[in-house]
Amino acid sequence: MTKINDNYLKLPGSYLFSTVAKKISAFQEANPDKPVIKMSIGDVTRPLVPAVIDAMHKAVDEMAAAETFRGYGPEQGYDFLRNAIVKYDYASRGIELEADEVFVSDGAKSDCGNIGDIFSVDNKVAVCDPVYPVYVDTNAMAGRAGDYIDEHWSNLYYMPCLAENGFMPQLPTEKVDIIYLCFPNNPTGVAATKEQLKPWIDYARENKAVILYDSAYEAFITNPDVPHSIYELEGAKEVAIEFRSFSKTAGFTGTRCAYTIVPHELKVNGTELNGLWNRRQCTKFNGVPYIIQRAAEAVYSPEGQKQTKENVAYYLNNASIIRNALTDIGLEVYGGENAPYIWAKTPDNMGSWEFFDKILNETAVGTTPGAGFGPSGEGYVRLTAFSSKENTEAAMERIKKLL
Ligand code: PLP
Repeated sequence: MTKINDNYLKLPGSYLFSTVAKKISAFQEANPDKPVIKMSIGDVTRPLVPAVIDAMHKAVDEMAAAETFRGYGPEQGYDFLRNAIVKYDYASRGIELEADEVFVSDGAKSDCGNIGDIFSVDNKVAVCDPVYPVYVDTNAMAGRAGDYIDEHWSNLYYMPCLAENGFMPQLPTEKVDIIYLCFPNNPTGVAATKEQLKPWIDYARENKAVILYDSAYEAFITNPDVPHSIYELEGAKEVAIEFRSFSKTAGFTGTRCAYTIVPHELKVNGTELNGLWNRRQCTKFNGVPYIIQRAAEAVYSPEGQKQTKENVAYYLNNASIIRNALTDIGLEVYGGENAPYIWAKTPDNMGSWEFFDKILNETAVGTTPGAGFGPSGEGYVRLTAFSSKENTEAAMERIKKLL
């Protein structure tokens, strides 16, 4: 008889963002005269920049001619893109990497989830709370999280990120084997300085732990003390895998391109994780389309850099509009300075979902309830800066009027 993976049955409710989306569409259906402004799901709204579109057109034409047509590409990504990543994202910051330490993929979401394939189910996993739900749910699916009891997975080690600790996780007080860190953070929008990250490298080295560092929002960093890559810290290559994405950097959420760095120096019991990840990718993944990789390469051209940076600046300006508006009405507001997310404390100790419903029903603005990111997110909502400036301003006017 067929047996299913029972771990899936332990997963609570539906995925956070689908619940939010369902609530927003139900409201919209019931109130067609009140257009909802979505500041909920972290999806970009600005189109791909001209440099990227030009590169895509050119690559499409190459696919139309027998001499330049491409079929299956290398599972790890084409050299032109891997070399561009090494040169522009790492060498430019003084980090030496080999092209074969870069694995191009269709998304940081897939990579953050799939990376679990190369680790035993016995590992003790530490996650921040609140957290990007993918880390938790994929470990639960793999059977690494235990049972879901009172909003906590019994085998996960939770690191609460609260106002009291500046939303920075504290080092585990028990031994953990795998640590997910995400900076600039989704959902809190807080970024970690080199000084704040250093103890994590030390911890991982002392405890033979691996850090899974999600740097999907590095393009939003404005503070010079905040590293764009964990490898800016000495010794990090021995203990960390880094996930990056073109999604938020260059508007590729619907285009799909990301990459993961697995340094050769990173070894567990003498085994290079680079080799394991390579094996996994070659077996289960057939590479990112040529057209998309050419588009990603164009992000690094001088025009691509200028144009994508303009978009990031546009979103950061929205973030400051949100920060200022919510601060003006007396809410406690975090993030938004090195990230496209604003983490706001609900007024009068309202619950996250209660506040989400109030804002949706009374102002037709969609937010994301903090509780959906983990128990310590209760009492907060997350707003994103990915709308247009006009919609951001309109949403803030509506919320200001209500509160
Ligand atoms: N990592 C974090 C922290 C994210 O917030 C997101 C998307 O919202 C992703 C990864 C997913 O990135 P991608 O679009 O490359 O799958």
